[in-house]
Amino acid sequence: MRFEQAISEFDPVLGLEVHVELNTETKMFCGCSTTFGAAPNTQVCPVCLALPGSLPVVNGTAVESAIRIGLALNCAIAPRSRFARKNYFYPDMPKNYQISQYDEPIAVNGYLDVDVDGDTYRIGIERAHMEEDTGKSLHMGGATGRIHGADYSLVDYNRAGIPLIEIVTKPIEGTGEKAPEVARAYVAALRDILRSLGVSDVRMEQGSLRCDANVSLRPDPQGPFGTRTETKNVNSLRSVERAVRHEIERQADVLAAGGTIVQETRHWHEDTGKTTPGRTKEEAEDYRYFPEPDLAPVAASEQWVEQLRATLPEPPAQRRARLQQHWGFTDLEMRDVVNAQALELIEQTIEAGASAAGAKKWWLGELARRSNDSGVALPDLPIDAVGVARIEALVAEGTLNDKMARQVIDGILAGEGSADEVVAARGLALVSDDTALLVAVDEAIAGNPDVAQKVRDGKVAAVGALVGAVMKSTRGQADAGRVRELLVARLTGE
Ligand SMILES: [Zn+2]
Repeated sequence: MRFEQAISEFDPVLGLEVHVELNTETKMFCGCSTTFGAAPNTQVCPVCLALPGSLPVVNGTAVESAIRIGLALNCAIAPRSRFARKNYFYPDMPKNYQISQYDEPIAVNGYLDVDVDGDTYRIGIERAHMEEDTGKSLHMGGATGRIHGADYSLVDYNRAGIPLIEIVTKPIEGTGEKAPEVARAYVAALRDILRSLGVSDVRMEQGSLRCDANVSLRPDPQGPFGTRTETKNVNSLRSVERAVRHEIERQADVLAAGGTIVQETRHWHEDTGKTTPGRTKEEAEDYRYFPEPDLAPVAASEQWVEQLRATLPEPPAQRRARLQQHWGFTDLEMRDVVNAQALELIEQTIEAGASAAGAKKWWLGELARRSNDSGVALPDLPIDAVGVARIEALVAEGTLNDKMARQVIDGILAGEGSADEVVAARGLALVSDDTALLVAVDEAIAGNPDVAQKVRDGKVAAVGALVGAVMKSTRGQADAGRVRELLVARLTGE
């Protein structure tokens, strides 16, 4: 069924669960390193391998991060929260249970406002709780890397025990046809907040931020919720939007044909844009939760919570609005800035002395083009805000024209040093000394007597040909505006 038709017949209700890996140096319950990409099973110890007799110890920094996340999401922080064992068997989970939180999470009852096409949607936050990540199964020998068709599987426990925060929304109602975009905007806003808090590197493509999307449909917007499905591990913002849209269409087809929705997890396939059934979703009682006997409850004193509240940065949405007003950018310009990940870069370039317009011009123009061509994200290009501010200053003072500035950028990106070093090494300064320019001006006049006469006769527009001659003889290293002034002055006495 087409999306528009599905929405006209059914009201979607969403629920989003986001898992974020914290960027603590060590794991949630042991001292193992959390560095991404290490050789398999080199960052493990008896605790995260669940060897008999080993005991977990809570990572204090992870608890601080959890509290700061809760506060940034306007949650209440529980004065006492407790870990629980969530029992299930997975080969990548050596304990056969996951230490999580169940009925006493650390943060509850918050909200996050997100903006879609100028409308604000307040997304209720049910809870944010602490838990540990699983290891990773690698299915070898097959073409797809999936378990089907594989010859054998390997398990890497480096990730087992990395601190996770799971952030669960309340049911999101009333979004109608905007449901897919609201889902995407929520994950984007959450990612911005987590990044601003500095608690995670929030790289969806590396799995440090993962979204599970619950979707259900009901015929009557005032009626009870329909049966939901949970699409797991959707790993890009675009996929969040596509997966929600697809699931609305798919469920509408099933319901319209008189079928029933099965409560289950579903897998998202980026290539086909479809979901396929996973396992039938367990109910909470299937996990046999019970309080973790090896860990004392976490008691967050009011004083500690208030200390952490004082460390919260300005909320990203508020910061963007402030900077936009300060810089005088339009909504569209600001969206381009954010999409290009250029907000901090432009802010730093302005701090280093450039104008807002100048900073935007270089980052969103020439440098964004280099970023696209090379596939290297703008913040990862080997040029910094100070370098861009210096180029802008050299253009503003007339030492460089735009063409030469692009050559300076070439040099910096090629590792030839700072802007000034590239200017010096490549001999890239405009001839701004009038004495030198006048020699070239007189040569151009002498070499083009007919054109010169036209200008003397009042056809000032003809001077362009002479400007061109001077630019050619100075190999482009003259300020064309100044050349024009000198020519007109020479020929008309003005
Ligand atoms: Zn360990």
